[in-house]
Amino acid sequence: MNPFLDTLQSLRDAFGSGKTRPAEFRAAQLEGLNRFLKENRDALLAALAQDLHKAPFESEISEISICQSEINLALNNLHSWMKDEHVSKNLATQLDTAFIRREPYGVVLIISPWNYPLNLVLVPLVGAIAAGNCVVLKPSEMSKSMEKIISEVLPSYLDKNCFAVVLGGPQETTTLLENKFDYIFFTGNPSVGRIVMSAASKYLTPITLELGGKNPCYVDDNCDPQNVANRVAWFRFFNAGQTCVAPDYILCTRETQEKLLPALQNAVTQFYGKDPQGSPDLGRIISDKHFHRLRGLLGNGRAAIGGQSDEQERYIAPTVLVDVKETDPVMQEEIFGPILPILNVQSIDEAIAFIRKREKPLALYAFSKDSKVVRQMLEQTSSGGFCGNDGFMHMTLTTLPFGGVGNSGMGMYHGKFSFDTFSHQRGCLLRSSGMEKLNSLRYPPYAQRNLGL
Ligand code: NAD
Repeated sequence: MNPFLDTLQSLRDAFGSGKTRPAEFRAAQLEGLNRFLKENRDALLAALAQDLHKAPFESEISEISICQSEINLALNNLHSWMKDEHVSKNLATQLDTAFIRREPYGVVLIISPWNYPLNLVLVPLVGAIAAGNCVVLKPSEMSKSMEKIISEVLPSYLDKNCFAVVLGGPQETTTLLENKFDYIFFTGNPSVGRIVMSAASKYLTPITLELGGKNPCYVDDNCDPQNVANRVAWFRFFNAGQTCVAPDYILCTRETQEKLLPALQNAVTQFYGKDPQGSPDLGRIISDKHFHRLRGLLGNGRAAIGGQSDEQERYIAPTVLVDVKETDPVMQEEIFGPILPILNVQSIDEAIAFIRKREKPLALYAFSKDSKVVRQMLEQTSSGGFCGNDGFMHMTLTTLPFGGVGNSGMGMYHGKFSFDTFSHQRGCLLRSSGMEKLNSLRYPPYAQRNLGL
């Protein structure tokens, strides 16, 4: 027997009771999340430090405060988001009421990865709660300290009948996925995304897939190298490069590369000191498996900056690789670590052709002082999100949808988009029973109808 059946049945009963539907219930759960963040702030920071050696500043801005602003946005807008949306009507329905009702799906499953182990559990959870669902959370088994807090502390801030945390790795998640859910929200890598999608197909369960990939970063000759280097180094080496929207590689001319290299070295030294291993602000690699995978990539091309590693600490130095070939392993897979290859192109057209030959990325970046160049990159490529002259700042706006396209995923969330993702949009028409004379014009026998054809 499937070990999750009882848990799922009790969530289904709770949803069936209608408990999660009133705005007051949803608001109370969101307030619970706010209290959870406030009262456990130190423990959360400690867990992020244990799992990823995340600096408190990085944890604050990329995990805790993002969750808080999503919760507060949902609390402030819950009533307006939940309102029926009245729509325009045709001649035949003038006296009727037509609207879109956003109703909860039911019991939803949220599966999360380890790289932002708080953010990527809580931000989707905010949307699922705001939309009135019951939820099963499956945090990553790799970020052990955060997994413990999510499973042992978070439930006491939520209604236990409506929310459950399930633990385990691939094997347990496979078993979990054998069950029927009303919606599945998955964040992780594209190959696991395929497994989730095929499990969802058994019940035709709607899904969101928030996946990864290789995010290109084009740097135009017309740029301020130090300005670009500061921004690129910050968002490539943030969380030790373990960020789904981090730039995976730079495309630029050889001349720009020569100007960027000293600027990047300067940025790395400014940020992490002469010996980055001693910096409190540089993260570590999540597991031995990922450490060995990344260490293997350090040998691709030539390390113009960094290149050092320490197995004991799972430390990989902030590294910039040059003389990298398109066919090198570092260009075949998502790097997901503090390694930044630079590939040379002759022009923006060549960069665009390079990008278009590959899978659509989750994010795409273009740096230039000439806004026409940035716009050209935007117009001639496709990606989940796009940011000109900076990195991942687009995802800090809750007014923008966040999600992938093609191989980088499907569906979107953040802000109101999360609420919509976890809501079924039910098209409703409430007709009047009057005007039967007029309505009878549509009934057979049709031979008596003259449509003037
Ligand atoms: P992952 O796909 O290995 O794991 C994600 C979740 O799926 C975990 O909870 C894990 O337990 C579960 N899982 C793993 N293998 C499974 C299997 N065979 N069957 C069923 N479940 C399984 O991803 P990860 O290593 O935790 O995270 C890194 C990946 O996530 C990268 O590709 C990154 O780009 C992507 N990511 C995407 C986003 C986004 O918002 N698009 C955000 C963060 C990470």
